[in-house]
Amino acid sequence: MIPLSEGQVPFSADAVIIGGGINGLTTARELAKQGLKNIVILEKNYIGSGSTGRCGGGIRQQWTTEENIRLAQESVRMYEEMSADLGYQVFFRQGGYLMVTESETDLPALRQAAALQNQCGVLTEFLQPQECLRLVPDLDTSNLKGATYCPKDGTAYPFAVVWGYAKACHKLGVNIHIRTTVLDIEMDDGRIKAVVTDRGRITTPVVVNCAGPWARDMAAKVGVSLPNRQERHEIMVSESLKPFLDPMVISLSNGIYFSQSLRGEIVGGIGDQSEPHWENPDDFNTNSQLRFAVRFAKALLAYYPRAAEVRMMRQWAGMYDVTPDHRPILGSVPGLDGYFHICGFSGHGFMLGPVTGVRMARYITTGRQDDIITSLSLDRFEKGEIQADGFVVG
Ligand SMILES: Cc1cc2nc3c(=O)[nH]c(=O)nc-3n(C[C@H](O)[C@H](O)[C@H](O)COP(=O)(O)OP(=O)(O)OC[C@H]3O[C@@H](n4cnc5c(N)ncnc54)[C@H](O)[C@@H]3O)c2cc1C
Repeated sequence: MIPLSEGQVPFSADAVIIGGGINGLTTARELAKQGLKNIVILEKNYIGSGSTGRCGGGIRQQWTTEENIRLAQESVRMYEEMSADLGYQVFFRQGGYLMVTESETDLPALRQAAALQNQCGVLTEFLQPQECLRLVPDLDTSNLKGATYCPKDGTAYPFAVVWGYAKACHKLGVNIHIRTTVLDIEMDDGRIKAVVTDRGRITTPVVVNCAGPWARDMAAKVGVSLPNRQERHEIMVSESLKPFLDPMVISLSNGIYFSQSLRGEIVGGIGDQSEPHWENPDDFNTNSQLRFAVRFAKALLAYYPRAAEVRMMRQWAGMYDVTPDHRPILGSVPGLDGYFHICGFSGHGFMLGPVTGVRMARYITTGRQDDIITSLSLDRFEKGEIQADGFVVG
């Protein structure tokens, strides 16, 4: 059992982290490892209750921008060691990712991305449609034009990851408060002064905004305007089946992704352009929609006809915290001492979270920015230095 407090918050802290998702937990743990004492995590619901506990657990290094490739590559290395490092089984399985397309026009981008990934040391290979059958024997390749495959990509179990990090945080003395809502952030002369919650006020010089889909609201409390918007996404899970599918299959053409979990379930989702964008994440509903079930089933059968006999067991919805270039916003804000944000991960914060925590904790404790944090800072939108990743799928 990990002791999580639901009582009064402490009067003071050296750093307050808002959000008990993967980013809040990894950052808190790394801050503690780097010697910062008296760290408090504030989570308004339960650990993993935001996007993290609703995600597909996919971890891939197949991206078109070098920042995403490098972050994912470093995260994969961390995922490979994570169960041992945290002393907690996170069920990381490297079945690979098979990224397919039905369009000839995607082929140059797939080849180019594979070349960039190879340059970064990622073992991606380009495959002809027929070659996909050695990885997924019953895949319907009739409409496929090509694919890329990286054997080191994979999946982990999101709740195990957050529980593992929560345990590791607790071991290092981090105070985790659940069912505790941040109501306000106080500033004094351009500096962070305190965080006000529904369970008391904490004086602190450092606030890290890891509030996921609520990050924009938290930033607004200190006058920072984030360009993030929220998007609803759903996932469907089947009954458990004997192991038959190693890689995560993901389509650049229609956005479907599906894999088989260690429990044997097919787990997958598909993006929906017609979903409304949500202005207020608290208005968002997590009801499941038949429209999604139908779209997912149709798309799944088109790639994997043998799934026709499979019973679907459950589905759920969650939110993506989306930025204009679908890449995270990291770092601090000039003129606002002690405020940091780690947000805007769109559909890939679970895979980028572990290494982001390491890099951001180093930045927070030493003040030394690294090249990735610099390139993902908020002012890139103002400066027009936007470089969208071409492989945003799902
Ligand atoms: C359907 C779906 C599938 C996805 N699949 C993948 C995938 O396969 N791979 C991948 O890498 N990513 C995936 N993602 C994206 C991924 O889940 C997110 O990018 C990631 O979990 C973000 O983590 P986080 O810690 O930043 O935010 P969150 O996990 O959302 O955590 C933020 C936390 O802050 C808390 N909070 C908010 N406001 C307050 C407040 N005022 N006071 C206190 N606490 C507060 C919330 O309760 C929440 O728990 C998926 C997302 C969804 C919805």
